[in-house]
Amino acid sequence: MIELSHISKSFGETLVLDDVSMVVAEGSVTALVGPSGGGKSTLLRCINLLEIPDSGTIRMGDALVTLHPGQKLRWDAIQSVRRQTGMVFQNFQLFPHRTALENVMEGLMTVLRWPREKAAAHGRELLAKVDMEHKADAWPATLSGGQQQRVAIARALAMSPRVLLCDEPTSALDPELAAEVVDVLGKLAREGTTMIIATHDLRLASSVSHDVLFLEAGKVMEAGPAERIFRTPEHERTRRFVSSIT
Ligand code: ADP
Ligand code: MG
Repeated sequence: MIELSHISKSFGETLVLDDVSMVVAEGSVTALVGPSGGGKSTLLRCINLLEIPDSGTIRMGDALVTLHPGQKLRWDAIQSVRRQTGMVFQNFQLFPHRTALENVMEGLMTVLRWPREKAAAHGRELLAKVDMEHKADAWPATLSGGQQQRVAIARALAMSPRVLLCDEPTSALDPELAAEVVDVLGKLAREGTTMIIATHDLRLASSVSHDVLFLEAGKVMEAGPAERIFRTPEHERTRRFVSSIT
């Protein structure tokens, strides 16, 4: 289980996250939605401590990190959270000089110190999970955006994260290629992969997520089961937002 309590974050004078709390049950998928600039990416980056919140607490499994204004976090505290997360970015960010399989093997070999053979075998299993086994030896530049994103998802899964954090995973893709990525994320969701997905893609949010959190100007405007939020949003802002993207 992942629990964020009262997370706030400012950049200079600008309050970007304002007392955000959320709970993500193991095996569930939460979509972060809301207008651009609302704080979705910053929230994802706070969850894996790529950004350090100014205040609040983050509980991830056994790791508990409490932030106080002005306090410097210890590196081992940061690592105790970060190693439980995997990140998928809008622009894939594969290593260009490594094949698809080598991209997936990289962390297993350099971080976990697995021998090459074992890393390759597991890497192929992960590529199969995202329907990319047939492109194991391809260079990223020769793959479509949808294929690159699927390799990036396999790479993020390689470290067996407690939660997969996805920042606009389909936003750089044409609809057809986005659909491949939605299919893969849907399959992972059915297998019980815990995910938090920031997205503008209503099809992704509505087909894959169990819970939705609507963020605007750094505040949680509305949160709850996806079905309810998409069918009968309570707040006028959420209603307008949901109808504007359907
Ligand atoms: P979203 O992902 O919902 O579009 P972001 O989290 O990217 O929103 O941004 C929220 C706000 O924080 C925006 O006003 C953005 O300009 C600001 N912001 C994000 N990152 C930084 C940063 N590193 N420095 C200063 N401002 C930032
Ligand atoms: Mg963003």
